[in-house]
Amino acid sequence: MRKRKSIEEYKKGILDGDRVLLSQAITLVESNLASDIRLAGDLVQELLPFSGKSIRIGITGVPGVGKSTFIEAFGSLLISMGKKVAVLAVDPTSQKTKGSILGDKTRMEKLSSDSRAFIRPSPSGSTLGGVSSKTREAMLLCEAAGFDVILVETVGVGQSETAVKGMVDFFLLLMLAGAGDELQGIKKGIMEMADALFINKADGDNVQAAKRAKVSYQNALHLFPLGENNWSAQVLMGSSVTKDGLESCWGLIEDFEGKMKMSGFWEKNRSEQRLSWLDESIQSELGKAFYRDSKVQDRLKIEREKVLAGELSPMKLARELTEMFFKS
Ligand code: GDP
Repeated sequence: MRKRKSIEEYKKGILDGDRVLLSQAITLVESNLASDIRLAGDLVQELLPFSGKSIRIGITGVPGVGKSTFIEAFGSLLISMGKKVAVLAVDPTSQKTKGSILGDKTRMEKLSSDSRAFIRPSPSGSTLGGVSSKTREAMLLCEAAGFDVILVETVGVGQSETAVKGMVDFFLLLMLAGAGDELQGIKKGIMEMADALFINKADGDNVQAAKRAKVSYQNALHLFPLGENNWSAQVLMGSSVTKDGLESCWGLIEDFEGKMKMSGFWEKNRSEQRLSWLDESIQSELGKAFYRDSKVQDRLKIEREKVLAGELSPMKLARELTEMFFKS
């Protein structure tokens, strides 16, 4: 059995930048055991004053676009600038295969062996909501441990982007040239969420196509109305292999940070994100308490057969179970 440490031990270790303790604390935060949840909640509260100073960047794109390679190269660039970089993955684990879409993070070899970087793959088998709410907490712990850039990686194919958008300051969408949007599986909604598009693999024979794609995406983005922050999304191109365009990408993010801090949007956005964090946490806590309830479990065991057979409306059963749960 895993030996639990005291809050003080976790706190001291994290504030000292101890990556092993940080990793153990994230495992604690991800745990569903009632005693762990309490301890994790207290730890996050203790570390709150030490958090919030990083830039939180969401990075998305379909499998194969080059997310891992980009993060390895971009993260290494940031480290060379004296920054400490944490990488967290939000992985909508495939329900069908139970496999991970984001795959094996050992591909970020250089970054994972650098003491100024911290790479945390997402927990496997968790539900999306669960992963995203735990990612906020993991992010906070990384900030307390002194990481000043947090890269949150997700696959650009589904709901996980909305979850990630709701917890980062800047949202970067990686794209490929020469493939239609449909081919890339990128929904318009995801493009609308992006603060910048980075056309990756603009190297060798691909450069001309990337230039054309840049113009056409820039035109497409102009059609989207400006958001509340008045920022118009930019299109960049570059290569995670030759490292072209990576510095410009960081420059753009710094420009964004400067403008948003000046306008007050940065803090406003974070405040609103804290409120959504509260909502999500309440929903998640309620869900867990509900499914732990023995009466609920007993009745579910019996009645789910009727739902399976199509004899009982899921809505009706859900209402009856919730009523029973709140009365008990
Ligand atoms: P992910 O699934 O989005 O994480 O994509 P990967 O980072 O695993 O990259 C998929 C493939 O594209 C790998 O074979 C990479 O070597 C390759 N790749 C990634 N970035 C670039 C790039 O900028 N240029 C070229 N030529 N290949 C790249």
